[in-house]
Amino acid sequence: MAHAVGVDLGGTKTAAGVVSEDGALLFSETIPTLNRSGGEAVLDVTAALVSRMLLRAQADGLSVAGVGLGSAGVVDAGRGVVVSATDAIQGWAGTALTEGLARRLGLPHGAVRAVNDVHAHALGEAWRGAAAGTASSLLIAFGTGVGGSLVLAGRPVLGHRFVGGHVGHFASPYAYAGGEALPCSCGGSGHVEAVASGPAIHAAFLRLGGSPAVPDTREVFALARGGDPAACRAVSTAAAAAGQATGGLVNVLDPEIVVVSGGLADAGELWWKPMKAALRRELLDPLVRVPVLRATLENSAAIVGAARLVFN
Ligand SMILES: [Zn+2]
Repeated sequence: MAHAVGVDLGGTKTAAGVVSEDGALLFSETIPTLNRSGGEAVLDVTAALVSRMLLRAQADGLSVAGVGLGSAGVVDAGRGVVVSATDAIQGWAGTALTEGLARRLGLPHGAVRAVNDVHAHALGEAWRGAAAGTASSLLIAFGTGVGGSLVLAGRPVLGHRFVGGHVGHFASPYAYAGGEALPCSCGGSGHVEAVASGPAIHAAFLRLGGSPAVPDTREVFALARGGDPAACRAVSTAAAAAGQATGGLVNVLDPEIVVVSGGLADAGELWWKPMKAALRRELLDPLVRVPVLRATLENSAAIVGAARLVFN
């Protein structure tokens, strides 16, 4: 059976593992991303990590067909280059991912493939996770940011300029406070991410008069579980915004199923209940039964999805 190395390269951590042709993750290793050292340094340590995976595969008698990479940033999957990126990884924009890794590993250029990490995550869930066996799935991740990916017939829809999947960046009627549109991480305002991301919940809690001593969103959830009014309202508003945005996307795309992932999807009924209620309210009648499932592969989704690029 053929195998591939899948790599999930994020702003804080990079994980790589060996995945079999039927989607099983055999072993993996996680290292910190050198996010202040520039793109070439990140590629150096990533190549060393992949190299360790290749050696271990070789020792186990496994043949590895190539390397798939899911990376932070907008990735030109044709050229394997980071088109643009936030400063989560300093100097990441312009980095030649596939050429740089192939050269360091002594592999032919075509043996390394790359996409954006959310697309890899969605591809993993579509292959072996919550959306396995479906013809189309829409994955939306609600966490530090809001991102997504539509997978059609086993391939993520990347868009003509590889920007497809930025589902956090369209208008939400919830993204206002005191009549002003909330600022968004993209430089715009009034977007879904500005109200429905994890950090947006903490910001809303403070705007609603919550104690400045509460340090983060995790604590806001803890207070909401205890019935704190400002915390409850901050969580339910963000969840309703997430649900309405998801419902609107389902109306546009009509995927076979919807997969929800990210830190907020793990926060339990306090978030899910208002999210699902808003989602159902938004859906057109023929869509009311669309399954909405929680992602199942957790941290391995993007590794498995990235490896899938090699088998496609
Ligand atoms: Zn935005």
